[in-house]
Amino acid sequence: MKILPSIKNAYLLIDHDTIVDYGSMDDIQNLDADQVIDATGKMVLPTWCDSHTHIVYSGNREQEFVDRINGLSYEDIANRGGGILNSAEKLQNTSEEDLYQQSAKRLQKVIKLGTGAIEIKSGYGLTVDAELKMLRVIKRLKKEFPLKVRATLLAAHAIPKEYKNDKTAFVDLVINKMIPEVAKEQLANYIDVFCEKGYFDLEDTERILKAGKEHGLIPKIHVNQFNAFGGVGVGVKYEALSVDHLEEMNIEDIDVLKNSATMPVALPSCSYFLSIPYTPARQIIDAGLPLALATDYNPGSTPSGNMNFVISTACIKMKMTPEEAINAATINGAYAMGIGTMYGSITKGKKANLIITKEIPSYAFMPYAFGENHIDNVIINGQII
Ligand SMILES: [Zn+2]
Repeated sequence: MKILPSIKNAYLLIDHDTIVDYGSMDDIQNLDADQVIDATGKMVLPTWCDSHTHIVYSGNREQEFVDRINGLSYEDIANRGGGILNSAEKLQNTSEEDLYQQSAKRLQKVIKLGTGAIEIKSGYGLTVDAELKMLRVIKRLKKEFPLKVRATLLAAHAIPKEYKNDKTAFVDLVINKMIPEVAKEQLANYIDVFCEKGYFDLEDTERILKAGKEHGLIPKIHVNQFNAFGGVGVGVKYEALSVDHLEEMNIEDIDVLKNSATMPVALPSCSYFLSIPYTPARQIIDAGLPLALATDYNPGSTPSGNMNFVISTACIKMKMTPEEAINAATINGAYAMGIGTMYGSITKGKKANLIITKEIPSYAFMPYAFGENHIDNVIINGQII
């Protein structure tokens, strides 16, 4: 992760939607191209691969933001009927068309910020109908937008009010109704669970991942956000593609990830927004593990889909080098979405998804001069956005 291969004074050749060649300008003989973009003084990078978002939601929760400033905790707000349940109620009462329009706006915004592939989760529906509505919106976004979209069923995101005293009945509903329905309609690639105290325990997580796998959904889980109690091990046991959050890690969690195919994913904007600890990136990387970075874009804990901010925050707060942060936000993010062979790096044969920066002195300038937009152009599938 410490090495970010680069070429100074380079050319890059795109044919339709594919990167077909690149190299040093010194080696170029006579290049015949329909269109030439002069990137003198600029950087060309692969687009960001944001492997963890919840961008399909209805309305915002800035009142809870103000409540937290005035002293309430995330848990206090959840106990008062706020949090995920608040978003679920709003979403249940929003039409599919309205939900699509709200989500499409957010997607347009993140593409301009350099995101060329994105994973989107359900989880603000919490009823069979509303979860299906969310996933259909994701399917339509996938159809209408040029960037790569992957969908995740996160029905086990919170326990709905009606099931407050019978969580098992809700887990049964997820297993017996939602998973088969979603698999039948081919609405999701992944199955996710919020494995956390007060939400879904290890046993619930195991049951849901097992049922998801039986229906062809690959596990990706929310784990170790507030408490470390063995969820990472459950993820690895069920061959999760990624385990996400990891703000609270112990040595067993690090050990269980070694020699696994599971990608640890850090979400620093969430730590920033909630003022909770950051994922111990140094501990993870120095143990020989990879790490991916994603936004966690959602209305409660991360109302931002800006991967540039994620990279800055990873460098500033998690002591990742610019090389590590850029690799984590591109090739490792692509792996965490199962699309690493076609996305996440400037490689011949991969999709031409590229960021062209403004004139900047080095790529380290991007995380360094934080909070500023350094992107000039975004190219998706060979087309300038
Ligand atoms: Zn999340």
